[in-house]
Amino acid sequence: MGSEKKPQPIVGDIVINPESGEQYKRGRLLGKGGFARCYELREMSTGKLYAGKIVSKARIAKPNQWEKMQREIHIHSQLDHRNVVGFHKHFEDDENVYVILELCNKKSLLHMLKLRKTLTESEVRYFMKQVIEGLRYMHSCSVIHRDLKLGNMFLTDSMEVKIGDFGLAAKLEFNGDRKRTMCGTPNYIAPEVLGKIGHSFEADVWALGCVLYTMLVGRPPFETTSLKETYTRIKHNKYSFPDTLSYDSKDIISLLLTSEPEDRPSLEEVLLHDFFVSGYIPEVLSPTVFSTAPHFPTTKVLMSDSSGEIVRNEFCRLRRESTMKHDNMEAAMSEIKAAREKSTHLMPGNSSTPRLRPKLHVTIPGSRPVDLEAVREKSGGSPVKPANYSVSIVAVSEMLRTCLRHMPKEEYLHTPRYKAIGDEVLWVPKWVDYSNKYGFGHQLSDKSVGVIFNDKSRICFHPDRISVQYLSNDHRVHTFRMSSIPPRLSKKVTLLDYFSTYMDEHLIKGGDIAWDAMSPIPKRKATSPNPAPTVQPYLVKWYRTDKAIAMYLSNGTFQLNFFEDHTKIILSYNNSDHLLTYINEDRISSTYRLLHIAHHGCTADIYSRLVYTREVLDKLVATEEEE
Ligand code: ADP
Repeated sequence: MGSEKKPQPIVGDIVINPESGEQYKRGRLLGKGGFARCYELREMSTGKLYAGKIVSKARIAKPNQWEKMQREIHIHSQLDHRNVVGFHKHFEDDENVYVILELCNKKSLLHMLKLRKTLTESEVRYFMKQVIEGLRYMHSCSVIHRDLKLGNMFLTDSMEVKIGDFGLAAKLEFNGDRKRTMCGTPNYIAPEVLGKIGHSFEADVWALGCVLYTMLVGRPPFETTSLKETYTRIKHNKYSFPDTLSYDSKDIISLLLTSEPEDRPSLEEVLLHDFFVSGYIPEVLSPTVFSTAPHFPTTKVLMSDSSGEIVRNEFCRLRRESTMKHDNMEAAMSEIKAAREKSTHLMPGNSSTPRLRPKLHVTIPGSRPVDLEAVREKSGGSPVKPANYSVSIVAVSEMLRTCLRHMPKEEYLHTPRYKAIGDEVLWVPKWVDYSNKYGFGHQLSDKSVGVIFNDKSRICFHPDRISVQYLSNDHRVHTFRMSSIPPRLSKKVTLLDYFSTYMDEHLIKGGDIAWDAMSPIPKRKATSPNPAPTVQPYLVKWYRTDKAIAMYLSNGTFQLNFFEDHTKIILSYNNSDHLLTYINEDRISSTYRLLHIAHHGCTADIYSRLVYTREVLDKLVATEEEE
């Protein structure tokens, strides 16, 4: 709106609606806009507080200005949604036009950002989700807002977001209608609006991208010192990301800021993006966020407390969100219920899937889980620090259980693959069971090699094949170099070397993940560095069922290799995500976030194996508890 000096409304202490006689007591000035002054107004008969937007008639004397004001009132008065500023009523007297609106006491997101400079991802998810809900509603009423910006996103006392200021809004008259002109200049103008080629709802999606960027980065994406240059950048889609932004933030922003309006995501798709689905969204925010960033769990939505409660809530939320796609919520819920009932019969009916019998024969040879806490307390060995973040087997089992409970069973919504970076998933590509004589040898994907001996002690080569780590059966840890092997361990080291050479030379790896990309096995060097200071991830436990061999690593990875078809299920944790890797009969691997499987489902092949994995894990957890 123009900035030249224009008459401002003259308002007395009491505002009277001449049609009804209602009186409002004028309170503090809430803000000034291009045309309006906004005051807190108390309705005297009810005591209710409102925001009164007051515009001097002299200020909108030109016919197009008057029409514009009338259009704003007409559009806004038809809207009623919790994320849109409530429209109470409007009236006029000789001097002014009055619009009585829901009071948003905590100013706007613009004010908040000015105080905070940038917002955290969790806060952005919280605000954006509400803005998108309000916008979905508006679009469903054929209304394009056309001036979405932080200053038009108002905040209530309870920190709810309400979209306001419909000064540039337009209503589409028919399906496929496009607006060609706009009187006024939106803050976050979309390229198609600049190009005057016709625009529609997608212009709001573009503005959402600008809003999201601004909240996370602290400045708008195309901002320059000259408007001309800013417009050139918008036309050429020229903007950059600071290094600090997460992958998901960058991805969602670049989708929203797609030049071609038809290639931008729908609002439903936006809510299903990883930025929202995989990140923490607070249920409520306190007004203290105006001054201080809140502390929330970052992206570890799948972390569980001991009872798995957070996980369950999170999956429930996801499931709820995924049903947004269904028009009929009730039908969707009964679908889920039916699917859940079916799942209690263990296997989905799919003839192409090998049916795995649920009955288990678990034999646990000489291996015990090593309790790192216990190890730390022992005085005889080196101080121990776990190398990786580890999750307990109970947590892994809980994750899988929750995932299976919530995932869609009857539809497979094409779960997105996880973009694993190189060696992210640590797993067991080779193993040899020589437990009838010595023990169980195994090679991990980081090229470390270990043996669990029948006397319950274990030994492993560090990936450099220079350092050796020995965990005695009384839980002491000894780390030494190949150049200084303690004499009492020489036989075990020789066996380790033997297992290691055997696996290097005779066994093929069990799949293709994180292996080919890695460097060849390092040759031992004459000058050896210091031994590895931390306890490297190691195999805690292995056992056979009648169908598969199960292996559990100290970093929380659980792997099940099926004997019959050589397929493998690997459940791992990589600091922020629970992942599922499936290696198929052709030894081709696919990795997914467990969260995504809970959300989108999986193929029948994976499902049947996951159900079996759950059985094996249950048995393992029960055995752990007994021990
Ligand atoms: P204009 O259409 O003239 O630009 P705005 O709608 O932007 O006017 O309102 C002007 C100012 O009034 C806003 O910047 C804001 O500070 C305040 N304001 C507007 N609506 C509300 C509301 N519902 N609750 C509280 N303050 C409001």
